Amino acid sequence: MNRHSSQQAHDFLHQSSLGLAIVGIVLMTPFSINNFLQGRHLLGVGGLLINGIFAFNTWTITKRNYYSDTLTLLVLVPIVIFFLNLTFIQQGIIGIFWCYPSVIAYYFMLSERKAWIANLTLLSITFPIAWHIIEQALAIRMISTVVMVSIFSAIFVRVINAQQQKLKLQAITDPLTGLLNRTSLHETLEQAIAQSKRMGISMTLASLDIDHFKAINDAFGHATGDQVLQDISGLLKERLRRVDQVFRIGGEEFLLLFYGSDTESGYLVAEELRHLIGSQPFLPDHSVTVSIGVATLHPKEDWMTWMQRSDDYLYRAKSAGRNQVMCM
Ligand code: GH3
Ligand code: MG
Ligand code: MG
Repeated sequence: MNRHSSQQAHDFLHQSSLGLAIVGIVLMTPFSINNFLQGRHLLGVGGLLINGIFAFNTWTITKRNYYSDTLTLLVLVPIVIFFLNLTFIQQGIIGIFWCYPSVIAYYFMLSERKAWIANLTLLSITFPIAWHIIEQALAIRMISTVVMVSIFSAIFVRVINAQQQKLKLQAITDPLTGLLNRTSLHETLEQAIAQSKRMGISMTLASLDIDHFKAINDAFGHATGDQVLQDISGLLKERLRRVDQVFRIGGEEFLLLFYGSDTESGYLVAEELRHLIGSQPFLPDHSVTVSIGVATLHPKEDWMTWMQRSDDYLYRAKSAGRNQVMCM
């Protein structure tokens, strides 16, 4: 899950920093030009420099699909703080107004921790300067409102991130069993293949299908059928290790990824699961059995062929009479 949430935070920063860059460039350029016209050349250069960094970010995000918030913290933030205070010194109270978009923007360009660092740095430098330049009552109101805007932004970003994470989790989870659904299957199997290559370890898949499940539904009702699906899912989750993955890929079909397992250990786990499920009193006077096909990843095999092979073994187990494990 951690991988998903950090990828998501990364996507969020990617999308938001691009929008900010475009708005920043459009709205700041006229002020830079005006600064040049008014003879405030250093401020004009500052505006253009900040725009340039925005443009560079936009370019790396769109063309290179890369964005570093550490770089933004180390380069953009000090430059903004410098020119913000220069505006303060040269133009007085006008400098206050630029604090607000800056503190908000940091939450959309940096991780939350880095945004706090940026905002606290901005305040600890800007507030003493403001204290000397503008009325103290005004400086106090400035710091209070900037802190308020900063906290509000942090809250918004947290809520957005939490909601995104929840939606993403919902999208990849099967509501009945709480197992993974097919959505993340492709990505997970491709990652397993890449890890197998990189680390030289085996990966084994097992396709598991409940035997005569239709008959169970017919005899005991759909609700009981659902209960059996939940109980079997619970057993699978309980028995497998944290590194393994279980997907519900169809009505009563599951796909299990045994991480780092070769055919022999995959077969043993599959046999153990088959025995375990067959010995549970899920239904009165009726045992529930499963058939399983096991396939260990071949070198150069893609995820679809790999999955197809474990399916083929499953169908062999079905044709051979069900309640058994087939592998090669
Ligand atoms: P086989 O041994 O060949 O696998 O036979 P089977 O009856 O298990 O397989 P079949 O594909 O003929 O039937 C699967 C049944 O699973 C049909 C469908 O009604 C039932 N099913 C699919 N999804 C659900 C579900 O979410 N809940 C319940 N209760 N039943 C479901
Ligand atoms: Mg079945
Ligand atoms: Mg089936």
